[in-house]
Amino acid sequence: MAKKDIADQCLCKAIECSAKLNDLRGLVRDAQYICKKCGRAAAKKRNLCSPVKLYSEN
Ligand SMILES: [Zn+2]
Repeated sequence: MAKKDIADQCLCKAIECSAKLNDLRGLVRDAQYICKKCGRAAAKKRNLCSPVKLYSEN
C-alpha cells in the first residue's frame, strides 16, 4: 500500500499520524481555510475535514 502524500490528506488526520512539522508548515502557510470541526487552518480545502473560508466575504 503506497503511503499517501501529506499534501493530499486531511491535516486533522495527518497531525494524528505524527506528520513532519516541516511538511505541515508548507500546508498551513498562507492559510485560506479553517476546519470547522477541529480548528486547524490550511491553504487548501482538501487538507481539512470540514473546511470553511478563513476570510469570509460576508
Ligand atoms: Zn478537521
